[in-house]
Amino acid sequence: MDAPKMEVKCGVDTCQYYKNHMCYASQIEVNPMRSKAKTSDETCCTTFRPQQS
Ligand code: SF4
Repeated sequence: MDAPKMEVKCGVDTCQYYKNHMCYASQIEVNPMRSKAKTSDETCCTTFRPQQS
């Protein structure tokens, strides 16, 4: 099976990988914010890096 390739839409406009509602990181990592996430509110993009000013 080929490695997954997908576009990631994102609304976190304070991230340095964000541009025009899309993510430009080469890959991202999303993790649960507690042991077993049950809703999307309990997941978190840990690739986020704040924009440098
Ligand atoms: S790294 Fe995460 S927060 Fe940053 S643009 Fe990509 S998906 Fe959004």
